[in-house]
Amino acid sequence: MNERTKAVKAAMNFALKTDYHKTLATATPAELHTALSRSLVGVITDDWQKSREQHLNARHALYFSAEFLVGRAIFNNLLCLGLTKEVDEMMRAEGVSLADLEQVEDAALGNGGLGRLAACYLDSAATLELPLDGYGIRYRYGLFKQQIDNGFQKEVPDDWTKYGDPWSIRREDETVLIEYGCRTVRAVPYDMPVLGYGTDHIGTLRLWQAEPVEPFDFVRFNNQDYDGSVAEKNRAEDISRVLYPNDSGDEGKVLRLEQEYFFSSASLQDMLRQYKKRHGNDFSQFAALHAVQLNDTHPVLAIPELVRLLMQEGLDFEAAFAITRGVFSYTNHTVMPEALETLPRHLLERAVPGLYPIIEKIDGKLRQELSEKGVPGDVVGRLSITRDNCAHMADLAVFAGRYVNGVARLHTEILKNRVLRDWYSVYPERFQNKTNGVTQRRWLALCNPELAALLTRLLGSDRWLTDLSALTELTRYENDEAVMREFLAIKRTRRGEFADWLQKTHGITVDPTRLFDVQIKRIHEYKRQFLNILAVLELYYEIKEGQLNDFKPTTYFFAGKSAPGYRRAKAIIKLIGEVARVIENDPQVRQKLRVVFVPNYNVSCAEYMVAAADVSEQISTAGTEASGTGNMKLMANGSVTLGTLDGANVEIVEEAGESNNYIFGAHVEEINDRANDYNPHGIYESDGRVHRVMDALVNGTLNDGGSGDFRELYDSILHGADWQRPDQYYLMLDFGRYLDAKKQVNRDAQDELAFAKKGWHNICMCGKFSSDRAIAEYARDIWQIEKVK
Ligand SMILES: *Cc1c(COP(=O)(O)O)cnc(C)c1O
Repeated sequence: MNERTKAVKAAMNFALKTDYHKTLATATPAELHTALSRSLVGVITDDWQKSREQHLNARHALYFSAEFLVGRAIFNNLLCLGLTKEVDEMMRAEGVSLADLEQVEDAALGNGGLGRLAACYLDSAATLELPLDGYGIRYRYGLFKQQIDNGFQKEVPDDWTKYGDPWSIRREDETVLIEYGCRTVRAVPYDMPVLGYGTDHIGTLRLWQAEPVEPFDFVRFNNQDYDGSVAEKNRAEDISRVLYPNDSGDEGKVLRLEQEYFFSSASLQDMLRQYKKRHGNDFSQFAALHAVQLNDTHPVLAIPELVRLLMQEGLDFEAAFAITRGVFSYTNHTVMPEALETLPRHLLERAVPGLYPIIEKIDGKLRQELSEKGVPGDVVGRLSITRDNCAHMADLAVFAGRYVNGVARLHTEILKNRVLRDWYSVYPERFQNKTNGVTQRRWLALCNPELAALLTRLLGSDRWLTDLSALTELTRYENDEAVMREFLAIKRTRRGEFADWLQKTHGITVDPTRLFDVQIKRIHEYKRQFLNILAVLELYYEIKEGQLNDFKPTTYFFAGKSAPGYRRAKAIIKLIGEVARVIENDPQVRQKLRVVFVPNYNVSCAEYMVAAADVSEQISTAGTEASGTGNMKLMANGSVTLGTLDGANVEIVEEAGESNNYIFGAHVEEINDRANDYNPHGIYESDGRVHRVMDALVNGTLNDGGSGDFRELYDSILHGADWQRPDQYYLMLDFGRYLDAKKQVNRDAQDELAFAKKGWHNICMCGKFSSDRAIAEYARDIWQIEKVK
């Protein structure tokens, strides 16, 4: 046992004894997890403090994000410390093991891609020794847990700190106060270490928790008004109670706004306090020392807030705004117009009265500056931040920031040509592309140890862990049958591991010798799970009728959550379950084709599924998915992509070749050209396959439990609704081409070796999609930060 492991063991024994009166041998998995995590935090404390000082003393970057989907920390941190094997052996000697900790659930402080990206970026920056820290909200409840109840999604609270939160350190002494219109709350920071791989450099994720100034109202309690005595406390705690509260009504909108202001203001106050310790009241170096990245528009209130805070320090508006303009940059994550956040003026004035006058001042500045540049009046009007009595957050971020970036090449082009076109015409130099990436530590090394070992052996070193492009060298094994057989065996192993997990956690049995085709992501109309399940239904009919005889047995997996109030997405979940049921009841077809919905998709589930998958479904309507990152995780694990030319798929096939992937469907240009004369009903009338699968929704074949949901889905395609055109995501347009591509994948998969070669080529060419590459680009082109010494 090495020195570090000895120290960990001693610390674990001490913690188990003092906290639980237990030993390694008698502790529960949750207790072991807490004790081991606390012990590791102890081991890294000195390095962590040193890194923190280094960040504060150099130009450094701060990642402001309403979401950080970090997933389970323990295995990743052991990997980074190089202690996985040692600690496992030490625990095994006591009759327990690291595998026991699999049962401990992970924190889901994010919805999906955007939050997971933030987590990958912190991981990469720590590994690259770049001074980047994260700021966000410590939600009491993270994203809901999804249960499937009679085929319908049911949401239950995710009490992620139920067994404690051993990776966080509460920093009571660094509490700040947040002033709202009618009250003040405390923001208490909790710090999580972000370990780099192969370095002792450690970043910090600081999450703010909302607490009342007074724990309860003593006088009211004494007067026996018990509910009233904690009303203020509850109101304060509501601010960090849940991730994305329902904001369909004004009360919900105000709460959202209060959340956004809460972590923006707390983080800036924290930065200013640290700055003042070093530079006193001379703010001239503030912009030179800080780069803030706004992850989508959620933290954009930080812009007027920094102006306000600097004015409170005695600067005038001009001086404060000049500094502010040197600090922020903004990442756009969506081209959906409805997702470009606008905050109604009356709600802003109610929740944070101090900010609206500043937003108006910034708008005045915008009008002045654009006129000086000779921008025509109608364009200035379109760009105004306060038009229509709302604050337009994306416009504010572009105007008052340094740079704006899209998250894949195609997405950035769409921003320039369509979504932010007027801005691009005025400030073209502010626009950048930063194609997303994922960390290969979690999404390859940790989730697929067998594949990782093979890559390391063939490469003669594990340098791909910090230089993913090194894998290109391994293309030379494509024609090496022994290596391809080994790769196939690894895929088989991973399918088996996933099957075991699925059995254990959800009681679902699957056959790991089949082809695994996966579509795993949030459920959304634009992502088109609906198209996938319709095509699977068509395959079912064709197999049943004997038209499709050479079909390799395949299981089509779906996993993902729907927003709680999103009726159609919930209907799609029910539909997937119904198609699964119809096939299950058909003993003949069941041998060839199965559909499985995996409940409660989260990071840990994703880790199993990306390693097990053979085919990666990335079938969003061209022009709708900004980038995607699930596509990258699956590529790195040797899946072939069955996808449209959308988001980062474009770059994935550019790297790995169209011949190693399955690209189908309308391109952005075709969609744009067709927009005015598109007639889905015509396709339904003329294509018997489309007709039959659509009719199954309403003729009693598929049962929506009397909810009317399937009729509504049917109408959404063929008739539209008063607020939208029929089939706005072009399912009918792509159906035939998609079905052909799906069959082609299946035919090709029958030649195992040839198919393995395609998957292998994808692994070898995935280097571009490392978040290390992405973060190095942000550091160089946007933040101008350098490695700490
Ligand atoms: C990667 C990931 C996502 C994003 O998936 P996309 O396919 O890019 O939409 C969402 N949720 C979880 C849990 C993930 O790990």
